[in-house]
Amino acid sequence: MRRISIFGATGSIGQNTIDLIARDPDRYRVVALTGGRNIAQLAADARTLRVQVAVTAHEDLLGDLREALADSGIEVAAGAAALSEAASRPCDWVMSAIVGAAGLAPGLAALEQGATLALANKESLVCAGDLVLRTARDNGARLLPVDSEHSAVFQALAGEDIHAVERIIITASGGAFRDWPLEKLAAATVEQASAHPNWDMGQRITIDSASMFNKALELIETKEYFGVSPDRIEVLVHPESLVHALVGFRDGALLAHVGAPDMRHAIGYALHWPERRELPVERLDLAQVGSLSFRAPEDTRYPALRLARAVMTRGGLAGAAFNGAKERALDGFIAGRIGFTAMAMVVEAVLERFEGRTGLLDAEMTLDNVMETDHLARTWADEAMMKRA
Ligand code: NDP
Ligand code: MG
Repeated sequence: MRRISIFGATGSIGQNTIDLIARDPDRYRVVALTGGRNIAQLAADARTLRVQVAVTAHEDLLGDLREALADSGIEVAAGAAALSEAASRPCDWVMSAIVGAAGLAPGLAALEQGATLALANKESLVCAGDLVLRTARDNGARLLPVDSEHSAVFQALAGEDIHAVERIIITASGGAFRDWPLEKLAAATVEQASAHPNWDMGQRITIDSASMFNKALELIETKEYFGVSPDRIEVLVHPESLVHALVGFRDGALLAHVGAPDMRHAIGYALHWPERRELPVERLDLAQVGSLSFRAPEDTRYPALRLARAVMTRGGLAGAAFNGAKERALDGFIAGRIGFTAMAMVVEAVLERFEGRTGLLDAEMTLDNVMETDHLARTWADEAMMKRA
């Protein structure tokens, strides 16, 4: 029996992970499931999977969770510290699928006890790439990518020499507004931004796909995970979302990963790695698909990509500042405080303010310093939004 835990179990990635393990219950023993506000889902899955502990991120919901799991024999807990405590319980494989910088601390705790960490939470690598990789190395723990592009690159690199890689190309659907006239973007609504043309995902990453902030995070994630220099990483708009990434080698060969847009592929690959097992995903009929199209991303439509390149070059704690500002700007857009195109302006203003304060981004990369940078970035994003209001 493999001991597994799922962080962010009530979300889109979490539910897809549960779908896979519930098909083969005798193989797994679930240690911890965690969620946020969706107590009903968390409790239902905790009962079905007969987990050891169920944790909600919100302390005010502890009573509700306790009530929902009364007489089940399942331990309950709440709050950020409880998440990290659950992550430090002995376990073989942990899915990191909390959304946002809140996923960093539990992921580090899981690595510290030597678990294989399946990383959907890209924010961990964006905010603290060095720290995450160092923690994995120091504890002999393995980090497996779950983001579809990074899983695709990882698969294309199997058996290859990383030094023979000339470039890595990650694809982007272009999001909900890829064909909108630029002048209409400023007035785009939350509802419009929340409809992804190809993928069914959580609301935050869906909006980040429309603004290309998701791809911006993924550029940084690629640099951190694979250790390649930023000038070797490209973004290609591919509206069909069937080719997830391509790796170009020094002999001119390009290896592409092609598959249906279903996260259960990347999740299942990380779950069964190093084996390849059968997965319940659609088999593509390429004759039916007919053609695949690609185009370069337009700089004016997607300022997030330019900001990500600056962050990659800057290094240090710039990723934490970028992500914190992005998360807060996204909160602001969802709450109706700022418009769609203002998100990038807010993030840029925050990054400039960090650059104006010598040393801030060059502090040592510890969990405390990363979270402090994240906090300051959110405060400054709030101030930037206030100015715009
Ligand atoms: P969802 O919004 O669907 O789910 C997020 C999960 O995190 C939920 O379980 C939620 O609980 C929980 N959560 C929310 N806030 C907190 C918090 N402050 N502390 C602890 N837990 C919290 O997100 P997705 O599943 O879409 O994405 C999860 C991660 O995976 C993100 O980092 C995303 O970028 C990445 N990813 C997602 C993909 C996808 O297809 N969805 C593809 C590639 C990467 P609750 O809902 O109960 O409140
Ligand atoms: Mg992705």
